[in-house]
Amino acid sequence: MEMEQLVALCRRRGFLFQSSEIYGGLQGFWDYGPLGVELKRNVREAWWRDMVTAHNELEPPPGAPSAFEMVGLDCSIIMHPQVWKCSGHYDLFHDFMVDCRESNKRYRYDQVCGRWVECKGQRIFVASDLGGDEGIELTRHKAMKFFNLRGKDADALAWEGTLVSLAELEEPYVELKIIDTKEKPASGKPSFLVDFSQVLGPDAKTLGTLTEPREFNLMLETYPGPVRDESSKAFLRPETAQGIFVNFKNVCDSTRVRIPFGIAQIGKSFRNEITPRNFTFRSREFEQMEIEFFCHPDTSPEWYRYWRDRRYQWYLDLGLAGERLRLRDHEKDELSHYSRGTADIEYAFPFLPTGEFGELEGVAHRGDFDLRSHAEGKLVRQGDKLVVETDAEGKPRHRGSGKDLSYFDDQTKERFIPHVIEPSAGADRATLAFLCEAYREDEAPDEHGKPTKRLFLKLHPRLAPIKAAVFPLVKKDGMPEVAREIYKTLKPHFPVFYDEKSAVGRRYRRQDEVGTPFCITVDSQTLQDGTVTIRDRDTLRQWRVHKDECLDELKTRLMA
Ligand code: ATP
Repeated sequence: MEMEQLVALCRRRGFLFQSSEIYGGLQGFWDYGPLGVELKRNVREAWWRDMVTAHNELEPPPGAPSAFEMVGLDCSIIMHPQVWKCSGHYDLFHDFMVDCRESNKRYRYDQVCGRWVECKGQRIFVASDLGGDEGIELTRHKAMKFFNLRGKDADALAWEGTLVSLAELEEPYVELKIIDTKEKPASGKPSFLVDFSQVLGPDAKTLGTLTEPREFNLMLETYPGPVRDESSKAFLRPETAQGIFVNFKNVCDSTRVRIPFGIAQIGKSFRNEITPRNFTFRSREFEQMEIEFFCHPDTSPEWYRYWRDRRYQWYLDLGLAGERLRLRDHEKDELSHYSRGTADIEYAFPFLPTGEFGELEGVAHRGDFDLRSHAEGKLVRQGDKLVVETDAEGKPRHRGSGKDLSYFDDQTKERFIPHVIEPSAGADRATLAFLCEAYREDEAPDEHGKPTKRLFLKLHPRLAPIKAAVFPLVKKDGMPEVAREIYKTLKPHFPVFYDEKSAVGRRYRRQDEVGTPFCITVDSQTLQDGTVTIRDRDTLRQWRVHKDECLDELKTRLMA
């Protein structure tokens, strides 16, 4: 499937629209249409039900070290600015960007890749903002143009290696800036491995138009209240997790939860992404589904494995195919400074080069980093310890709340700061993955019995926006009346669609396209014996049931 086909279907059938489309759209923002809103709600509800409401806290679920409780929260999007200082987002939540003086385009530094090429005695780095085979093709094309070569002269180009990211070439630069932001080299400028004057930018025709990488904080700012100055600056949350940490004590004090337990939250997050792209995959406003699971430090490695595996299984159960879904444990050097283990659940989205995967969810063992930071002040690693970061005078750089965020186990009489396992998923990325996976084309007989191309969404019944459609075969002989009765019976139980317009074959196709699992048709036989046909979206099989049994029949099949 080509991504353009899915994007076109989403727009045509009302799953997704560009935000503010009549004004030309706003990059990085999307609106869910009437069908999209149902689909995304179903994703969120499946998550909430499977993780929170249907969770049986009396018995351990398969693979869990013990039984545990799950509760929910819904926190505000704008929080006290100190939250982001202690969480580390204020200092560290940034990407590096490079600007192109020629094209005025802006790129994420780590997404610019390219190849060294030598020709006519000159050695230049030809950059592209695409990876994989497409990136290779693009750099070849650009180099040919730059050196004014024709197809047959391609041998004149001598390539060095395959595609590498600019950021990789400049490893020392990135480390210097990220790991030790305070300490700059004597010259005040980091040393470069790449001479930027020799880089041909992704959309440039001349050399050296890319600026040096600059830090760019991803948090969107706002100024609540009447005064607009530094002291009133606040941020739109870049993740929902911090609302959970700062409410840890409130939840413990107001409920009877005991460790181990988890707090779940679904809500909007905002990131000023430098290059939002790939449909809803990278947006500036998106929705997250996050769990912070609090446990005893001794059992945390087991809980980490449990959540990693359980979350992976959730996507499989809802229909993502095993070969396009993978669980990838991070290498040691990929881990954040506080993490003792992180795994990404990734999906091979069709817009990515073959063999590449995009993150759907991260599951991280965060140790006691967050609760301690919010209690004591922002932590940094010193040797193998986390200590409060201090300024030149030895005072905490970002002071914590000063509240005791430890936990007292009244059975073992032990006081400790819980460790946290965080499964952090994106509702929009999950929705997009389910749509990509569901998109199918096959051949099926049309209304004249002629095999023609059929497009259908093979969505899991739990996710399908409409669960069943009801049609009278023709708009006469009392068929619409019977069909309306069936529709009225089903409607209070699940989303149902009634349609009496155009040929029945076309009505089937319209439902296939939006993933409706079942279509019920009232025909002339219904008028004689009360039976209707039910048609299965995936197999196209049709069978008859009595019209009074439609509800039970569908309930059983939708639950299966
Ligand atoms: P990426 O590396 O792709 O930017 P991330 O590692 O920064 O993602 P996390 O901070 O772990 O992402 O956020 C948790 C989840 O939130 C991600 O797995 C993803 O599903 C979702 N998410 C993060 N950023 C975006 C975004 N810009 N648009 C849509 N979803 C996002």
